[in-house]
Amino acid sequence: MKNWVEELRSATLKAIADESRRTALRRAVESYTSNKGKALSRLPHLSDLALDVRRIKETSVERMEDLVKEASEAIADCNGHAHIVRNAQEARKIVSEIVGEHKLVVKSKSLTCEEIELREYLEDKARCRILETDLGEFIIQLRGEKPTHIINPSIHVPREEVAKTFSRLAGRKISGDVEALVSFARSYLRDYFIKADVGISGANAVAAQTGTIFVVENEGNARFSTNAPPVHVCVVGFEKVVPALNHAFKVVEVLPAYATGVLMSSYVSMITGPSKTADIEKKLVYGVHGPKELHVVFLDNGRSEMAKHPVLKEALYCIKCGGCLYECPVYRVLSGTFGHNYFGGIGSVWTAYTRGFEKALFAYMCTGCGRCRELCPLKIDTPRLVEALRGELCRLGFKHPKATLFFDNICLQGNPWGEPKALRGSLGC
Ligand code: SF4
Repeated sequence: MKNWVEELRSATLKAIADESRRTALRRAVESYTSNKGKALSRLPHLSDLALDVRRIKETSVERMEDLVKEASEAIADCNGHAHIVRNAQEARKIVSEIVGEHKLVVKSKSLTCEEIELREYLEDKARCRILETDLGEFIIQLRGEKPTHIINPSIHVPREEVAKTFSRLAGRKISGDVEALVSFARSYLRDYFIKADVGISGANAVAAQTGTIFVVENEGNARFSTNAPPVHVCVVGFEKVVPALNHAFKVVEVLPAYATGVLMSSYVSMITGPSKTADIEKKLVYGVHGPKELHVVFLDNGRSEMAKHPVLKEALYCIKCGGCLYECPVYRVLSGTFGHNYFGGIGSVWTAYTRGFEKALFAYMCTGCGRCRELCPLKIDTPRLVEALRGELCRLGFKHPKATLFFDNICLQGNPWGEPKALRGSLGC
């Protein structure tokens, strides 16, 4: 605990010195901002719809446990398997048991899987081969790096570096042209979708009434990963469950413009149970062209604790669009070092509850400028959350030494610098 300030400081200095990281981020932010502006001008109703989503989230979070149970029952009714797990360890264990050992797994991007370090676990403990199929995740998997943005995990890697990474994999020179890079990833990953034993995904929303999972994406990799292999495992946080289909539709309508600046994502998959048919003599058979088995793992991992906090529960309304990060001045400078898996001010709250408060000390880097609150479609008051989180951190003993010194000085001398009261009086201060 003693060196946490020094650790934050050295990570910050390292990030500031990384020119290539800043170049990649600048390019991405410019493109995102312009695309989002165009999308929102074409879809002016989205700002009101987003506030509707906030109201849905507010009521859903209040009855999170009940909704998870309702969704689990609906999934079982559709011949799927629902598993309710309390922490990361339980989640990894259950997924590992479903997947088995030495299996080939295709995985689509999932913050929740990242939160529990599922890929690393399945590789190490179950000796599985896991292929990240989202382009950004694929890039950082090959580079042995961690995501630096919740929507765009390889945002810190410029195209020139992607070309070097892909060239190493291909054993030949791949040009730095973005289209060529995408084409290489497409051809490399194609066969694996068909050969995989299991597909793993997250979900953007779950409708409790019907047990329907919604997966939003642009690349088409999630659709392949959740459809081609014989077994699909979906890992989803409790907070993603909303009462019914119409509520989930609102979430997926709001998300794309704020997440990637598109009018609508290329694909929205709605999955209700495993693939089935009754076309021959009305006999119901599971596993036609899609998966024969569907497992949905509902993960708590600190969410129900977060829901009990009078202020911090607001973080559970976040739809993980990542919009607040692009224009956060601190994130712009520090990118991947302004968080762990969850980034920025909102990410500090998520990190505290899902990984431990000692991992959320980057909350002290937030300047409280409030830009995130203005940009958030759900109007989440992140500066207020960060302030409340800092209060919790202080109570746990994570006080910044400088702040402690200033506080003691104010109490003793009436000023933060610790100048003797008598001296300040004599100078007319
Ligand atoms: S806090 Fe708001 S802007 Fe930031 S990721 Fe969540 S929903 Fe998006």
